[in-house]
Amino acid sequence: MNKQRQAEIDLLMRDREALAALIEQHDMVLNAIHAMPQMFYVVKNDKLLFCNRHLAEFYDLPEGVTAAGTPWSAMMEAILSTHLSDTDLSIEEMKAEVIRKIHDNGRFRRSWALEDGRHLVIEAMDCGNDTIIVTYTDVTALKNAQKKAEASERAKAAFLANMSHEIRTPMNGVMGMAELLCATDLTDTQSVYASTILKSGEALLTIINDILDFSKIDAGQMKLHPAPFSIAEAIEDVAVLISSRVSDKNLELAVRIQPDLPAMFVGDAGRLRQILTNLMGNAAKFTDEGHILAALSGEPCEEGYKLTFKIEDTGIGIPEDKCASIFEKFNQADDSATRKHEGTGLGLAITASLVNLMGGEIGVESKQGEGSTFWFTVTLPVHEGEEKPAAAPVDVSGARIAVIDDNDVNRKILNEQLTGWGYECVLYENGHEGLSGLREQVAAGTTPDLLILDYHMPGMTGADVATLLRADPAFKTLPIVMLTSVDEASGNSFLSLGVNAHLTKPARSSLLFDTIIRVLQKSASAKTEEEEPAGDAPAPQPAAAPKTETTPEEPASSGGLDVLVAEDNEVNRLVLTHILKETGVSFKIAVNGREALAMYAEHAPAIILMDISMPDMNGFDAARTIREAEAESGQHTPIIAITAHALKDDKDKCFAAGMDDYISKPISAARLKDRVIHWMRAAAEDAA
Ligand code: ADP
Repeated sequence: MNKQRQAEIDLLMRDREALAALIEQHDMVLNAIHAMPQMFYVVKNDKLLFCNRHLAEFYDLPEGVTAAGTPWSAMMEAILSTHLSDTDLSIEEMKAEVIRKIHDNGRFRRSWALEDGRHLVIEAMDCGNDTIIVTYTDVTALKNAQKKAEASERAKAAFLANMSHEIRTPMNGVMGMAELLCATDLTDTQSVYASTILKSGEALLTIINDILDFSKIDAGQMKLHPAPFSIAEAIEDVAVLISSRVSDKNLELAVRIQPDLPAMFVGDAGRLRQILTNLMGNAAKFTDEGHILAALSGEPCEEGYKLTFKIEDTGIGIPEDKCASIFEKFNQADDSATRKHEGTGLGLAITASLVNLMGGEIGVESKQGEGSTFWFTVTLPVHEGEEKPAAAPVDVSGARIAVIDDNDVNRKILNEQLTGWGYECVLYENGHEGLSGLREQVAAGTTPDLLILDYHMPGMTGADVATLLRADPAFKTLPIVMLTSVDEASGNSFLSLGVNAHLTKPARSSLLFDTIIRVLQKSASAKTEEEEPAGDAPAPQPAAAPKTETTPEEPASSGGLDVLVAEDNEVNRLVLTHILKETGVSFKIAVNGREALAMYAEHAPAIILMDISMPDMNGFDAARTIREAEAESGQHTPIIAITAHALKDDKDKCFAAGMDDYISKPISAARLKDRVIHWMRAAAEDAA
């Protein structure tokens, strides 16, 4: 009996101990719940079961409300009396909404901005047994931090756009004026000074572009603008750009494109060119002899084509231990103070970020002393649109070009450049003046063939002008080239404004020239296509091709080199290259009189186009030397002078030096073609 009683007592004692432990645990949990930074309450069967102290204190709830058994709606009402609701729902509707959301999604969640500036997140969950837990989390600090971060992002973007504008505007003045200066008659010393300003400007611009691009990537502001583009053109354009650097060294530059690749893809061609320019530029910089090969291959995949670009060089190579870190910012394989090659060390970091942005991969294989192969992949959709055959070049010389730019220096530079290239130029100082001026031109029957439009102008921006022009039927197809000093930080896509091309300032004159020709040619051939099928009436000449009647017939090719050009100025060389390419003759260009003599001896050209003022040996001396050499052989190669000033004195001097003809600058395409054809025929007849 005693034994049984003892057992009962033991059991009771154990139960008591278990109960005490349970109570202790319960108190602990309760204390923890009260101490929680979150506020919460529990309702069961539409009645309050429990509410933590933090909630009671936050809303200053009276004891009657926080006691178990209070109806849920009374609890809600007490809360809303402290902080006004930001909805129009009644208490019952709110409850119904919470229950419906829990039923549909397993939980209810919404954020609540209080009128004192604080932010709460309210969540409600079903815990079974008709029990719902409602939590209130104060996220004010988090929200404030987020707002601050967003404001700082916005400030960073605005600063970048601003800096870009503030830096590019004076750079445009420096580079543009230096380019114009180089194209004038200078003494040898002046010419060295002016081209040094230009070269230093170029070097500075590369650094500025790198830093601005890098900051843009760092701030997450770099965006891609995909559009259809020709992949071969993109690579070849870069190869042409690099070729001038390569030709100074003992280097071969080759491009290989897998022949069965589609011609057109959709991607950001500008950024792709930037990647290629950097990799091929590095290859040219770090290679002194051998070759540089840019190879493109690809294989079809679900999204289009996975393209692999490989840039192989036979240069100095990269030590194995540096290959991995070479894509990190500020990293250079040779970081010693005595290093031979200049650079910021940002190029590859930018390149890698751009490849990443395009969803591709980048890498390098290299052996020190033997060379490097940089590769990257990108997957691009194929452009399905029909592939247009390249339009036959249209003569766009003498076109009328309007300029709207608020900056005095810019207008001066553009005016000089455009008239120098033989274009007729009309200048406007702001959007309003430009719009009314353009309308007057249309009324007078002298609609411009192209508009160069500055983006950043006070009052009416370039974007506003473009939008207004595109809305006007008279200017729907007017080709527009936009010049910008602000990168597209605002996310504005210039193409969506209907502009045909956009260039970032300072735009090198060669690039501006190429762009103008490209846009004019495109617009002129589009007009011809439109007008041809019209039939009956004789088709009017495209506005940009006023001189088609002078388009020469095929020149009689000599079989050997047709034309030797001697010209020291880069821009003029470009102009001449364009015109001669259109004419279809073979030609080579010497950069001074002495080089012209050597090339004359080597290639025996049919005719020579000779600039007069050149460093080292001028055109007069070169012509005289050629005539002296010919005196023995009895040959006579026609020499056509290209003179900066069409003064009588100059012409006389040309003939006195033994030249046969002259063309004055600015070079008119029609006149040049006409003279080239004329003298090539004469040379052919002479030889027969
Ligand atoms: P930068 O050329 O301005 O210094 P990059 O980021 O373009 O900066 O290149 C970083 C470094 O990588 C270079 O300084 C050079 O040491 C190395 N490098 C890049 N390309 C090549 C290459 N083709 N051959 C050898 N070294 C290279």
